[in-house]
Amino acid sequence: MDISVVVPLYNEAESLPELEQWIERVMNEHGFSHEIIFVNDGSTDGSWQVIEELARKNPAVRGVSFRRNYGKSPALNTGFARAQGDVVITMDADLQDSPDEIPELYRMIKEDGYDLVSGYKQKRYDPLSKTIPTKLFNATARKVTGIKNLHDFNCGLKAYRNKVVKHIEVYGDMHRYIPYLAKLAGFSRIGEKVVHHQARKYGKTKFGLDRFVNGYLDLATLWFTGKFGGKPMHFFGLLGSLMFILGFIAVAVVGFGKLWNMYHGLPYVLVTDSPYFFLALTLMILGAQMFLAGFVGELVARNSPRRNDYEIDTEL
Ligand code: UDP
Ligand code: MG
Repeated sequence: MDISVVVPLYNEAESLPELEQWIERVMNEHGFSHEIIFVNDGSTDGSWQVIEELARKNPAVRGVSFRRNYGKSPALNTGFARAQGDVVITMDADLQDSPDEIPELYRMIKEDGYDLVSGYKQKRYDPLSKTIPTKLFNATARKVTGIKNLHDFNCGLKAYRNKVVKHIEVYGDMHRYIPYLAKLAGFSRIGEKVVHHQARKYGKTKFGLDRFVNGYLDLATLWFTGKFGGKPMHFFGLLGSLMFILGFIAVAVVGFGKLWNMYHGLPYVLVTDSPYFFLALTLMILGAQMFLAGFVGELVARNSPRRNDYEIDTEL
Protein backbone atom coordinates (compact mmCIF):
# COMPACT_ATOMS: atom_id res chain seq x y z
CA MET A 1 0.00 0.00 0.00
CA ASP A 2 1.33 3.47 -0.91
CA ILE A 3 -0.16 5.78 1.68
CA SER A 4 -1.84 5.72 5.09
CA VAL A 5 -3.51 8.94 6.12
CA VAL A 6 -3.86 9.16 9.90
CA VAL A 7 -6.41 11.68 11.18
CA PRO A 8 -6.73 12.27 14.94
CA LEU A 9 -9.99 13.96 15.79
CA TYR A 10 -11.97 15.24 18.71
CA ASN A 11 -15.46 16.58 18.01
CA GLU A 12 -15.03 17.30 14.32
CA ALA A 13 -18.22 15.70 12.95
CA GLU A 14 -19.01 18.52 10.51
CA SER A 15 -15.61 18.46 8.82
CA LEU A 16 -15.23 14.72 8.34
CA PRO A 17 -17.33 14.06 5.20
CA GLU A 18 -15.69 16.97 3.36
CA LEU A 19 -12.22 15.86 4.44
CA GLU A 20 -12.80 12.27 3.37
CA GLN A 21 -14.09 13.33 -0.05
CA TRP A 22 -11.15 15.64 -0.61
CA ILE A 23 -8.59 12.99 0.36
CA GLU A 24 -10.31 10.47 -1.90
CA ARG A 25 -10.27 12.88 -4.80
CA VAL A 26 -6.53 13.47 -4.46
CA MET A 27 -5.78 9.77 -4.06
CA ASN A 28 -7.81 8.81 -7.10
CA GLU A 29 -6.34 11.55 -9.28
CA HIS A 30 -2.85 10.21 -8.55
CA GLY A 31 -3.72 6.54 -8.43
CA PHE A 32 -2.36 5.92 -4.92
CA SER A 33 -3.40 2.79 -3.09
CA HIS A 34 -4.28 4.05 0.36
CA GLU A 35 -6.16 3.85 3.62
CA ILE A 36 -7.59 6.60 5.80
CA ILE A 37 -7.40 5.88 9.51
CA PHE A 38 -9.68 8.08 11.59
CA VAL A 39 -8.76 7.98 15.26
CA ASN A 40 -11.70 9.24 17.26
CA ASP A 41 -10.34 10.66 20.48
CA GLY A 42 -13.46 10.23 22.60
CA SER A 43 -15.67 12.68 20.67
CA THR A 44 -19.07 13.45 22.11
CA ASP A 45 -20.60 15.06 19.02
CA GLY A 46 -21.43 12.06 16.85
CA SER A 47 -18.09 12.05 14.99
CA TRP A 48 -17.94 8.28 15.37
CA GLN A 49 -21.33 7.81 13.70
CA VAL A 50 -20.07 9.88 10.78
CA ILE A 51 -16.95 7.70 10.54
CA GLU A 52 -19.04 4.51 10.61
CA GLU A 53 -21.15 5.91 7.81
CA LEU A 54 -18.06 6.82 5.75
CA ALA A 55 -16.58 3.37 6.31
CA ARG A 56 -19.77 1.73 5.06
CA LYS A 57 -19.44 3.51 1.74
CA ASN A 58 -15.67 3.46 1.37
CA PRO A 59 -13.57 0.35 2.12
CA ALA A 60 -10.42 2.53 2.37
CA VAL A 61 -11.79 4.16 5.52
CA ARG A 62 -10.76 2.61 8.82
CA GLY A 63 -11.65 3.85 12.27
CA VAL A 64 -10.51 3.47 15.86
CA SER A 65 -12.43 4.99 18.72
CA PHE A 66 -11.24 5.76 22.24
CA ARG A 67 -13.81 5.45 24.98
CA ARG A 68 -12.76 8.81 26.36
CA ASN A 69 -10.66 11.80 25.35
CA TYR A 70 -6.93 11.19 25.78
CA GLY A 71 -5.34 13.85 23.59
CA LYS A 72 -3.83 14.24 20.16
CA SER A 73 -0.60 12.35 20.94
CA PRO A 74 -2.28 9.12 22.09
CA ALA A 75 -4.56 9.34 19.04
CA LEU A 76 -1.58 9.67 16.69
CA ASN A 77 0.27 6.85 18.41
CA THR A 78 -2.72 4.56 17.98
CA GLY A 79 -3.04 5.47 14.31
CA PHE A 80 0.70 4.91 13.78
CA ALA A 81 0.49 1.42 15.21
CA ARG A 82 -2.14 0.53 12.60
CA ALA A 83 -0.72 2.29 9.55
CA GLN A 84 0.29 -0.06 6.73
CA GLY A 85 1.22 2.33 3.93
CA ASP A 86 4.84 2.88 2.83
CA VAL A 87 4.33 6.55 3.56
CA VAL A 88 2.26 7.72 6.50
CA ILE A 89 0.64 11.14 6.35
CA THR A 90 -0.87 12.80 9.40
CA MET A 91 -3.33 15.65 9.10
CA ASP A 92 -5.75 17.49 11.34
CA ALA A 93 -9.43 16.82 10.89
CA ASP A 94 -10.52 20.45 10.89
CA LEU A 95 -9.81 21.13 7.19
CA GLN A 96 -6.97 23.52 8.10
CA ASP A 97 -4.52 21.20 6.33
CA SER A 98 -4.93 20.60 2.63
CA PRO A 99 -4.93 17.06 1.20
CA ASP A 100 -3.61 18.57 -2.05
CA GLU A 101 -0.17 18.54 -0.42
CA ILE A 102 -0.14 14.75 -0.18
CA PRO A 103 1.38 13.89 -3.59
CA GLU A 104 4.41 16.17 -3.13
CA LEU A 105 4.95 14.98 0.45
CA TYR A 106 4.83 11.41 -0.81
CA ARG A 107 7.36 12.22 -3.50
CA MET A 108 9.75 13.83 -1.04
CA ILE A 109 9.78 10.70 1.10
CA LYS A 110 9.98 8.28 -1.80
CA GLU A 111 12.36 10.08 -4.14
CA ASP A 112 14.26 12.65 -2.12
CA GLY A 113 14.94 10.12 0.60
CA TYR A 114 13.58 12.00 3.60
CA ASP A 115 12.57 10.06 6.71
CA LEU A 116 10.18 12.75 7.78
CA VAL A 117 8.81 15.83 6.06
CA SER A 118 7.08 18.44 8.19
CA GLY A 119 4.61 20.95 6.83
CA TYR A 120 5.36 24.63 7.30
CA LYS A 121 2.35 26.93 7.51
CA GLN A 122 4.26 29.95 6.28
CA LYS A 123 1.10 31.96 5.83
CA ARG A 124 -1.15 31.09 8.75
CA TYR A 125 -4.80 31.78 9.23
CA ASP A 126 -4.82 31.78 13.00
CA PRO A 127 -5.26 34.58 15.55
CA LEU A 128 -2.19 36.68 16.47
CA SER A 129 -2.36 35.38 20.03
CA LYS A 130 -1.29 32.08 18.55
CA THR A 131 1.07 32.99 15.72
CA ILE A 132 3.45 35.18 17.78
CA PRO A 133 4.06 32.74 20.65
CA THR A 134 4.39 30.03 18.02
CA LYS A 135 7.32 31.86 16.42
CA LEU A 136 9.14 32.09 19.76
CA PHE A 137 8.33 28.51 20.54
CA ASN A 138 9.75 27.26 17.25
CA ALA A 139 12.91 29.29 17.66
CA THR A 140 13.50 27.70 21.06
CA ALA A 141 12.69 24.24 19.75
CA ARG A 142 15.20 24.68 16.88
CA LYS A 143 17.91 25.61 19.37
CA VAL A 144 17.24 22.85 21.87
CA THR A 145 16.63 20.03 19.41
CA GLY A 146 19.36 20.98 16.97
CA ILE A 147 16.95 20.51 14.06
CA LYS A 148 17.80 23.82 12.48
CA ASN A 149 15.75 23.61 9.30
CA LEU A 150 12.25 23.34 10.81
CA HIS A 151 10.04 26.39 11.26
CA ASP A 152 6.86 24.70 12.39
CA PHE A 153 7.42 21.74 14.69
CA ASN A 154 3.78 21.36 15.61
CA CYS A 155 2.31 21.38 12.08
CA GLY A 156 -0.36 18.69 11.96
CA LEU A 157 0.45 17.89 8.35
CA LYS A 158 3.50 15.65 8.18
CA ALA A 159 4.73 12.70 6.15
CA TYR A 160 6.79 9.80 7.44
CA ARG A 161 8.53 6.77 6.10
CA ASN A 162 6.61 3.84 7.61
CA LYS A 163 9.65 2.68 9.57
CA VAL A 164 9.74 6.00 11.43
CA VAL A 165 6.25 5.80 12.89
CA LYS A 166 6.88 2.24 14.06
CA HIS A 167 9.98 3.31 15.97
CA ILE A 168 8.78 6.34 17.84
CA GLU A 169 6.38 6.51 20.72
CA VAL A 170 4.19 9.60 20.90
CA TYR A 171 2.73 10.01 24.38
CA GLY A 172 1.48 12.78 26.66
CA ASP A 173 1.55 15.98 24.58
CA MET A 174 4.67 15.04 22.67
CA HIS A 175 3.05 15.39 19.24
CA ARG A 176 4.62 18.87 19.21
CA TYR A 177 8.04 17.29 19.06
CA ILE A 178 7.68 14.34 16.71
CA PRO A 179 10.65 15.52 14.60
CA TYR A 180 12.76 15.51 17.75
CA LEU A 181 11.47 12.07 18.72
CA ALA A 182 12.42 10.87 15.25
CA LYS A 183 15.85 12.42 15.57
CA LEU A 184 16.38 10.80 18.96
CA ALA A 185 15.43 7.47 17.36
CA GLY A 186 18.16 7.99 14.78
CA PHE A 187 16.18 9.27 11.82
CA SER A 188 18.16 12.26 10.72
CA ARG A 189 16.85 13.10 7.26
CA ILE A 190 14.22 15.59 8.27
CA GLY A 191 12.81 17.97 5.69
CA GLU A 192 10.24 20.68 5.41
CA LYS A 193 7.66 21.72 2.87
CA VAL A 194 5.72 24.96 2.81
CA VAL A 195 2.04 24.05 2.91
CA HIS A 196 -1.24 25.81 2.43
CA HIS A 197 -3.17 26.62 5.54
CA GLN A 198 -6.78 27.64 5.95
CA ALA A 199 -8.85 29.12 8.72
CA ARG A 200 -10.85 26.60 10.72
CA LYS A 201 -14.11 26.06 8.90
CA TYR A 202 -16.20 24.33 11.55
CA GLY A 203 -15.97 23.95 15.29
CA LYS A 204 -13.26 25.52 17.43
CA THR A 205 -9.67 24.89 18.47
CA LYS A 206 -9.07 22.22 21.10
CA PHE A 207 -5.98 23.80 22.59
CA GLY A 208 -5.82 26.94 24.75
CA LEU A 209 -2.93 29.19 25.66
CA ASP A 210 -1.70 26.60 28.15
CA ARG A 211 -0.25 24.89 25.10
CA PHE A 212 2.73 27.21 25.28
CA VAL A 213 3.50 26.55 28.94
CA ASN A 214 3.12 22.81 28.46
CA GLY A 215 5.06 22.97 25.21
CA TYR A 216 8.11 24.41 26.94
CA LEU A 217 7.90 21.96 29.83
CA ASP A 218 7.71 19.06 27.40
CA LEU A 219 10.70 20.39 25.51
CA ALA A 220 12.70 20.44 28.76
CA THR A 221 11.62 16.87 29.49
CA LEU A 222 12.61 15.60 26.07
CA TRP A 223 15.93 17.42 26.15
CA PHE A 224 16.71 15.92 29.55
CA THR A 225 15.58 12.37 28.83
CA GLY A 226 17.19 12.42 25.40
CA LYS A 227 20.54 13.53 26.76
CA PHE A 228 20.68 12.00 30.22
CA GLY A 229 17.86 9.43 30.31
CA GLY A 230 20.34 6.55 30.38
CA LYS A 231 22.92 8.23 32.60
CA PRO A 232 21.23 10.59 35.07
CA MET A 233 24.33 10.74 37.27
CA HIS A 234 26.17 12.63 34.55
CA PHE A 235 23.70 15.45 35.01
CA PHE A 236 22.94 15.42 38.73
CA GLY A 237 26.41 14.31 39.74
CA LEU A 238 28.13 17.14 37.92
CA LEU A 239 25.69 19.76 39.13
CA GLY A 240 25.72 18.37 42.68
CA SER A 241 29.51 18.17 42.86
CA LEU A 242 29.96 21.71 41.60
CA MET A 243 27.50 23.08 44.14
CA PHE A 244 29.01 21.07 46.97
CA ILE A 245 32.57 22.09 46.16
CA LEU A 246 31.57 25.73 45.84
CA GLY A 247 29.81 25.56 49.21
CA PHE A 248 32.74 23.80 50.82
CA ILE A 249 35.22 26.38 49.62
CA ALA A 250 32.97 29.18 50.82
CA VAL A 251 32.59 27.62 54.27
CA ALA A 252 36.33 27.04 54.48
CA VAL A 253 37.06 30.66 53.60
CA VAL A 254 34.61 31.95 56.23
CA GLY A 255 35.89 29.55 58.91
CA PHE A 256 39.61 30.00 58.30
CA GLY A 257 39.15 33.72 57.92
CA LYS A 258 37.73 33.91 61.39
CA LEU A 259 40.47 31.71 62.92
CA TRP A 260 43.18 33.71 61.18
CA ASN A 261 41.84 36.97 62.50
CA MET A 262 41.46 35.49 65.99
CA TYR A 263 45.11 34.34 66.12
CA HIS A 264 46.40 37.62 64.87
CA GLY A 265 44.35 39.61 67.26
CA LEU A 266 42.33 41.26 64.53
CA PRO A 267 38.60 42.05 64.85
CA TYR A 268 36.42 39.16 63.61
CA VAL A 269 32.74 38.24 63.28
CA LEU A 270 31.09 34.99 64.31
CA VAL A 271 30.80 32.48 61.48
CA THR A 272 27.03 32.52 61.89
CA ASP A 273 26.99 36.29 61.46
CA SER A 274 28.37 36.05 57.94
CA PRO A 275 25.84 35.79 55.09
CA TYR A 276 28.36 33.67 53.16
CA PHE A 277 28.05 30.97 55.78
CA PHE A 278 24.35 30.50 55.02
CA LEU A 279 24.88 30.59 51.27
CA ALA A 280 27.59 27.98 51.67
CA LEU A 281 25.39 25.81 53.84
CA THR A 282 22.54 25.94 51.33
CA LEU A 283 24.87 25.11 48.45
CA MET A 284 26.30 22.10 50.26
CA ILE A 285 22.90 20.73 51.23
CA LEU A 286 21.46 21.21 47.74
CA GLY A 287 24.59 19.78 46.18
CA ALA A 288 24.39 16.64 48.31
CA GLN A 289 20.71 16.29 47.39
CA MET A 290 21.48 16.62 43.70
CA PHE A 291 24.04 13.88 44.07
CA LEU A 292 21.51 11.65 45.78
CA ALA A 293 18.99 12.39 43.04
CA GLY A 294 21.65 11.16 40.63
CA PHE A 295 22.00 7.88 42.52
CA VAL A 296 18.23 7.39 42.65
CA GLY A 297 18.06 8.21 38.93
CA GLU A 298 20.72 5.59 38.23
CA LEU A 299 18.77 2.99 40.21
CA VAL A 300 15.65 3.78 38.19
CA ALA A 301 17.52 3.72 34.87
CA ARG A 302 19.18 0.45 35.78
CA ASN A 303 15.79 -1.16 36.30
CA SER A 304 14.31 0.04 33.04
CA PRO A 305 13.43 -2.93 30.86
CA ARG A 306 14.48 -0.79 27.90
CA ARG A 307 17.97 0.06 29.13
CA ASN A 308 19.49 -2.12 26.45
CA ASP A 309 17.08 -1.44 23.59
CA TYR A 310 18.91 0.04 20.68
CA GLU A 311 17.76 1.21 17.28
CA ILE A 312 19.39 -1.35 15.02
CA ASP A 313 19.32 -0.24 11.42
CA THR A 314 20.81 -3.17 9.52
CA GLU A 315 22.49 -6.45 10.34
CA LEU A 316 24.20 -9.11 8.28
N1 UDP B 1 -7.43 16.64 18.61
C1 UDP B 1 -7.54 15.37 19.15
N2 UDP B 1 -7.63 15.22 20.51
C2 UDP B 1 -7.62 16.30 21.36
C3 UDP B 1 -7.48 17.59 20.80
C4 UDP B 1 -7.38 17.73 19.43
O1 UDP B 1 -7.56 14.38 18.43
O2 UDP B 1 -7.71 16.10 22.57
C5 UDP B 1 -7.35 16.82 17.15
C6 UDP B 1 -8.36 17.81 16.60
O3 UDP B 1 -9.63 17.23 16.43
C7 UDP B 1 -7.71 18.19 15.29
C8 UDP B 1 -6.23 18.18 15.64
O4 UDP B 1 -6.10 17.37 16.82
O5 UDP B 1 -7.97 17.23 14.29
C9 UDP B 1 -5.67 19.57 15.86
O6 UDP B 1 -6.47 20.26 16.81
P1 UDP B 1 -6.87 21.78 16.64
O7 UDP B 1 -7.30 22.06 15.25
O8 UDP B 1 -7.84 22.10 17.73
O9 UDP B 1 -5.49 22.50 16.94
P2 UDP B 1 -4.97 23.87 16.32
O10 UDP B 1 -5.21 23.85 14.84
O11 UDP B 1 -5.74 24.94 17.01
O12 UDP B 1 -3.50 23.87 16.65
MG1 MG C 1 -6.69 23.25 13.76
